Amino acid sequence: MRIPFHIKILLAMVLGIVVGLIVNQSMPWLTRVGEQVPALGWVFGFVGSVVDAAGKVFVRALRFIAVPIILCSLIAGAAAMSDFGKLRRIALRTITLFLLTTMVATVIGLTLANTVRPGRFVSPEARDALLAQTQTVAQERIRAAGGARSIGETLLEAVSMNPFDSLARGDMLQVVVGALAIGIALAWLPKDKSGPVVAFFDGLSAAFQAIVTFIMRYAHWAVFALLAPIVAAVGWDAITSLLAYSLCVIGGLCVILFIEYPILIRALSPYRLGELFRAIAPAQALAFSASSSAATLPVTLKCVQTLGVPKESASLVCSLGTTINMDGTALMQSIAAVFIAQVFGEHLTIAEQVAIVVTATLASIGAPGIPSGGIVLLVAVLQAAHIPIEGIGLVLAVDRLLDMARTVVNVSGDAMTAAIVGGREGGSGGSQSPGP
Ligand code: ASP
Repeated sequence: MRIPFHIKILLAMVLGIVVGLIVNQSMPWLTRVGEQVPALGWVFGFVGSVVDAAGKVFVRALRFIAVPIILCSLIAGAAAMSDFGKLRRIALRTITLFLLTTMVATVIGLTLANTVRPGRFVSPEARDALLAQTQTVAQERIRAAGGARSIGETLLEAVSMNPFDSLARGDMLQVVVGALAIGIALAWLPKDKSGPVVAFFDGLSAAFQAIVTFIMRYAHWAVFALLAPIVAAVGWDAITSLLAYSLCVIGGLCVILFIEYPILIRALSPYRLGELFRAIAPAQALAFSASSSAATLPVTLKCVQTLGVPKESASLVCSLGTTINMDGTALMQSIAAVFIAQVFGEHLTIAEQVAIVVTATLASIGAPGIPSGGIVLLVAVLQAAHIPIEGIGLVLAVDRLLDMARTVVNVSGDAMTAAIVGGREGGSGGSQSPGP
């Protein structure tokens, strides 16, 4: 019997969470048995590292594809566009939607955090325990924030000085700008000069798409292998002590995903809500498991094209989105900032709340699409609102899990924008099955 693709992914998710929780709960027992019978200890360690490695290999393979697929499809896509007004229109609409939805996300976050006030559920003792527990990681993140690029620097450095360096570092914004420049230049050249080059990039882009299709056949294994170790490491205890905060973030993400996006899709896109959600389900599942919009990019691209969004709009919107559109991250940053202030007993003025909206919007633009990319830039948001930066230690314990949920929203936001912007540029309706 052939199990449908989405059911396989769903089963893998449930199994990953259940196995992770069982391992987490039986960790003292496993350690004791391992010490008493060294051979069994070796077997446990071996199984753990094989599962861990399987998930990592999958993410590495996708990250391998992300940069070249964007390079090739954007060059071929821009070169095929005879109408530059169209390109300008797509870019402008995309950036406007990105900015608007990110701002709305921060406002939703602030509203929730100010009404629920999750900080009141953390006692001073629990606060001190959480801060002590996460001290080392918190210091690491604060140090990393010192080295992070500001939004001004990110935009300034969008123009690369060395295309090979940008490709090697996987700097998506620089790759997008460079690929667009090459594509536009090719469109200007006579066909006898540009034709072979465009055909080369077009063919290469198709080859990478074929690799994505092949890799996605094993996505359910990867989903299990990625989820189980995370759940095993985090466990229930961390979740229960930060339950109110976690529920606030998850509630906010649900508002974005199930209320805001559907309204926008209904109002602005030619696609039906159901067909959009069905088409992007594999990308959402992968985003949840890998916590990385950059690694999910090749699959997001495939999903929106399956929906009928034209290739050039899909690659432009999704690649830009991976770098600068993170509604889930912006929401988490605004809730986390208010939560930390509440736990420290600080009252935030209106000016400080406005500072949170502005810096969380900008910080989410600067955040890289990798696991925990958003937490590093939370430091900037805290600084802008005069909240003690050591406070990030309070949210670290559950951040890995919330990261999975917010990455789903980040990726869905990119896909939704592609469906709106690309759909209005003549995308074809009616999706095929997204599964391989
Ligand atoms: N993991 C998120 C992403 O890749 C970024 C974050 O940490 O918020 O989209």
